[in-house]
Amino acid sequence: MFRFYNLEPCYSINPHFQFPMISILGIPFDAASSFLRGPAQAPNKIRAAFHSDSANYFTERGIDLKESEIWSDAGDLAFNGENPLSVIENSIHNLLAQDHRILTLGGDHSISYPVVKAFAKKYGRLNILHIDAHGDLYDSFEGDKYSHACPFARIMEEELAVRLVQVGIRTLSTHQREQAARFGVEIIEMKDWNSAIQFQFHGPTYVSLDLDAIDPAFAPGVSHHEPGGFTSREVFTIIQKLKGNLVGADLVEFNPTRDPSGITAMLAAKLFKELLDRLLLSENG
Ligand code: MN
Ligand code: MN
Repeated sequence: MFRFYNLEPCYSINPHFQFPMISILGIPFDAASSFLRGPAQAPNKIRAAFHSDSANYFTERGIDLKESEIWSDAGDLAFNGENPLSVIENSIHNLLAQDHRILTLGGDHSISYPVVKAFAKKYGRLNILHIDAHGDLYDSFEGDKYSHACPFARIMEEELAVRLVQVGIRTLSTHQREQAARFGVEIIEMKDWNSAIQFQFHGPTYVSLDLDAIDPAFAPGVSHHEPGGFTSREVFTIIQKLKGNLVGADLVEFNPTRDPSGITAMLAAKLFKELLDRLLLSENG
């Protein structure tokens, strides 16, 4: 089963520990949320749903994630009162130094900025596919430049992305439209979505998946219920058909406090499985 340790004890307990090719890292952080707390509880809820007896460990492509030897769980980050941005960036940097692909679980969307920063240090400017109801492009939100409403403004200002493609977006304010134009963000708004759209990227590619991209009818366990989103199926298909060299992904904004039936946890666990499956492919198609 899983080992629940933070990274430091892991290194000190077993200096010969070999991380496999893909590492899972839980990020229990929700202090940059503007409306509700809760996404800090997401990592263990997703793990519990992944292990639920109500489903098996197979991806839709037929990979048995229970048997796989090429991914492992690095546990959850521990912040210990340190600057969370630094803790996140340094931890991702340490995993990337071992040439692993990384899938992070949990947290509010603010975590994507330090995660992407570490990825860009290794790979240079990334292609980013950002799936979300929100653009998260605010220069500042309620006085906080590192709010979960701002990560993609920081990423674009620091030129960490060669392309930022956003899908699922259905909440753009005038300010965010201006920010998108300023940064050259490619936005496919939800109102313009059709199922024939597919994504192809050249070079290292990162997927940032905010669960509120999916309609709250399917995913009630999020802080910001924004009607008119994707079906679960549409997001699985986007992930499965994505062409490009996927090197990392995050799964953010799952809020277990709004998920009494556990349906969103099971959806998050299935997205986890399909993202992991896609990370196991070096290229796709
Ligand atoms: Mn978001
Ligand atoms: Mn969102």
